[in-house]
Amino acid sequence: MEVKEGSSIVCKAVSAEPKIMDEPINIIGAGPAGLTAGIVLRKHGFPVKVFEMSPEVGHRLNGDFQGLENWSSEKDITDILKSVGIEINFLCEPYYGGLVYAPEMKPVEIKSDRPIFYLVKRGMMPGTLDMGLKEQALSAGVEILFNHRLDKFEGKAIVATGPKGADAVAAGITFTTSMKDQAVVILDDNIAPKGYAYLLVNQGYGTMVTVLYREYRKEYECFERMMKFFKGNMDMDIKNEKRFGCYGNFFIWDTQVHHSKLYVGESAGFQDGLWGFGMRYAILSGYLAAKSLIEDSDYDMLWQRELRPMLETSLINRFLFERIGHHGYRYLIKKFANGNPCDFLKKHYNYSFFKHLLLPIARKKYESRVKDQNCNHENCTCVWCRCGAKICP
Ligand SMILES: Cc1cc2nc3c(=O)[nH]c(=O)nc-3n(C[C@H](O)[C@H](O)[C@H](O)COP(=O)(O)OP(=O)(O)OC[C@H]3O[C@@H](n4cnc5c(N)ncnc54)[C@H](O)[C@@H]3O)c2cc1C
Repeated sequence: MEVKEGSSIVCKAVSAEPKIMDEPINIIGAGPAGLTAGIVLRKHGFPVKVFEMSPEVGHRLNGDFQGLENWSSEKDITDILKSVGIEINFLCEPYYGGLVYAPEMKPVEIKSDRPIFYLVKRGMMPGTLDMGLKEQALSAGVEILFNHRLDKFEGKAIVATGPKGADAVAAGITFTTSMKDQAVVILDDNIAPKGYAYLLVNQGYGTMVTVLYREYRKEYECFERMMKFFKGNMDMDIKNEKRFGCYGNFFIWDTQVHHSKLYVGESAGFQDGLWGFGMRYAILSGYLAAKSLIEDSDYDMLWQRELRPMLETSLINRFLFERIGHHGYRYLIKKFANGNPCDFLKKHYNYSFFKHLLLPIARKKYESRVKDQNCNHENCTCVWCRCGAKICP
C-alpha cells in the first residue's frame, strides 16, 4: 500500500521576503484558521484586519478539551506548528494512550511510545488554543475587530468562518473532577451512531461528549446513554457540570477560491471526515492561504497538494467506518491494541491507491449540504454563498 505523508511539505518556510503594504489583508473569522493566517501574514510584514462576529475568540466552543491528532504525519504536530510560525503558548498536553470500549467487549488499553494526541482546551478562557492564538496575533500586530459580523464582503479576503452545516453533531458536558488524567473512547452505535463518545480529563477538569454522524434527532437520548455508560462502568466524579452542543462540517470542493476570496478551515469543508480532527486542517490551511498571498502563488494548488490526499482519504474512511458496525469496531480496537496505534492510524489516514478507488462513491455520499438560502445569486458578494460553485443553482 502506498503511503504518502500528508502535511510534511507544509512545513517548508514561506520563501518571500517580508513586505511593507498599505492595504490590509482582510480575514473573516478569528478561529484557528483565520488567526493562523493572520499571524503568518503579519510576521511577513502584511497589515492584517480580522473581523470576528463574537465579542471574543473561542465563543463557539465551550471550554471543552479537544485532541490535536499526532498520528497522520511523521513529524510531531507541535513541531509542525512551530515550523509554520505558531508558538505553543496554550495548554498542549501529550497523551500516550487511553481506554477504548466497544459493545460486548472488555475495555482495551491502548499505549503508544509517542503522543497519540495533544490535549488542548477550546473557548474563551485563559490557556485555550483560541486565546493563545489571539495573544500571538495581537503581539504580531494583527488588528482584530470583535462584534463585526460580515455576511457580505466585496474584494479580496480570507474566509475562515468555520462550519455552516452539520455533518456531525456533538452533545456533551464540561465539569470539574477529582478523577485522574485520562482519555477514554466508546465506539457504540447506541451511544454515538456512526461516531464515538469520549471522556478527557486533565488536571481536575473534564469533558465528556458524544459525537453523532447519523440520527441527529437522538442527540439527547445518546447523551443520556453516554452518561449512564460512563457512570456505570467507571468511577465518575462530576461537579459543576455545564452542558453544550455543537456541530461540524466536511466536504471537498475542487476550488477554494471564489470571487477573490480564499476559503480556509471548516468554512472550506477542511475537516477530518472520519472523526472530526479538524484543528490540524484549520491551522495548516490558514498557513497555506497566507503563504499563497505572501509568495503570490496559487492557493488551490497549495491546498490540493498538501491537504487534499488526506481529506479524500478521510472521506473514504468515513464511508467504510459507517459500514463496519459493532463487529468492525471490535476488530478495529484489537488492531489498535495489538500494534503501535500511531502507525496503524497513520497508515489509514494517509493516501492509498486502492482505497482511493472508492473516492467517487464517498464524494457523492458526502456532498456538502450547506446552502445559503438568503442569497439571490446575482452579483453575489456573500461570504458564505458560492455562486458559480456547484452548490448554487
Ligand atoms: C464538540 C467538538 C469537538 C471537536 N473535537 C475536535 C478534536 O478533538 N480535534 C480536532 O482537531 N478538532 C475537533 N473539532 C473540530 C475543530 O474544533 C474545528 O475543526 C476547528 O475549530 C475549525 O477551525 P476554524 O478556524 O475553521 O473555525 P472556527 O473554530 O469555527 O472559527 C470560526 C470563527 O469565525 C467566526 N465567524 C463565523 N461567521 C462569521 C462572520 N460571518 N463574520 C465574522 N466572523 C464569523 C466565528 O465566530 C468563529 O470565531 C471539534 C469540534 C467540535 C464542535
